[in-house]
Amino acid sequence: MSVVRLLGFATLPCGCVVGRYREVATSREVAYVEEKGPACTSHLHKRNHTLVSPTLARSRSAPSEARVS
Ligand SMILES: [Zn+2]
Repeated sequence: MSVVRLLGFATLPCGCVVGRYREVATSREVAYVEEKGPACTSHLHKRNHTLVSPTLARSRSAPSEARVS
């Protein structure tokens, strides 16, 4: 199991909520689908499924929600 740091959350246009994480060992950014959007039709978006797509980092994200301490 790898150690990851939470970077923040983002909502995709399809309605899915993803959490963005930085893998400490590799400095790679990964994203997990936290919540499947009710209107989402993408079979690639599954809960707790990993998305490796740095571009989705541009989606809406609220810095105030990014803190988990
Ligand atoms: Zn989706």
